[in-house]
Amino acid sequence: MAASDAEIMLSYRGISKRYANQLALDGVSLDCPEAATTVLIGPSGCGKSTLLRLAAGLIQPDVGEVQFEGAPLSTGNLRSARLRMGYMIQEGGLFPHLGVRANVELMARELGWSASRRRDRLAELAELVQLPAALLDRFPLELSGGQRQRAALMRALMLDPDLILLDEPLGALDPMIRVELQRELAAIFQRLHKTVLMVTHDLAEAVFFGDQLVLLRAGRIVQQGPAQALLQAPAEPFVAEFVNAQREPQRMLTEAGQGLSAPVC
Ligand code: ADP
Ligand code: MG
Repeated sequence: MAASDAEIMLSYRGISKRYANQLALDGVSLDCPEAATTVLIGPSGCGKSTLLRLAAGLIQPDVGEVQFEGAPLSTGNLRSARLRMGYMIQEGGLFPHLGVRANVELMARELGWSASRRRDRLAELAELVQLPAALLDRFPLELSGGQRQRAALMRALMLDPDLILLDEPLGALDPMIRVELQRELAAIFQRLHKTVLMVTHDLAEAVFFGDQLVLLRAGRIVQQGPAQALLQAPAEPFVAEFVNAQREPQRMLTEAGQGLSAPVC
């Protein structure tokens, strides 16, 4: 389905957001269509995480409005909207004083899920992200970075959310697991028709996941659209610079006479 025909699940309307004297977002409007994956990319500090925090209702815009299924997010509907979102913050954000199981189950317990339903869902998710069951009883600090990240993913997916907000979800994984989990996740999103808004600093990952890519710079959207458009028809020099910077390792190999036959992205 073309993005323009789809229902819009999440919509940012003319958002500006300032932290103290730092302007983080400057007039951002963006629609995230249902059952599609939107990927936010751009240099560190350009406002990617701020967009996710706004969707999750952790912060409010100074100007503009965030809409969830057409209704502005407000104190009245935030809790019900939030229960339909799975949010994985950058670095995972697991509570250090709770074991993995308790972290993942937290909201399900609060919602009164039975022990057997929680156990079944946990087992399903552990298999999905390939976290050995023995690790569920450890504390986050007793896990490797990659294991922590997989546990955080489990927590974000626990309630089978309609909207999944992922802030650099695969950042701490080693390359082999990363590629495997990328494939698994993409298959899940597609199979379950999930609406996903994901942040990554890795262009190849953005291309892999994104039905739509959104490139930000200093709080503004520079270009948005399918990956092909960003790669082949950059809207301004910055887009080409950003793309080329990520191709640098391949260029170095090519110059050294060891070029890969397939392009990096
Ligand atoms: P990104 O995720 O793209 O790296 P962020 O959305 O986290 O960027 O931050 C956007 C800008 O806002 C950055 O300049 C950052 O330093 C600033 N910023 C983010 N959070 C805060 C905060 N809590 N207080 C002050 N400045 C912040
Ligand atoms: Mg960030």
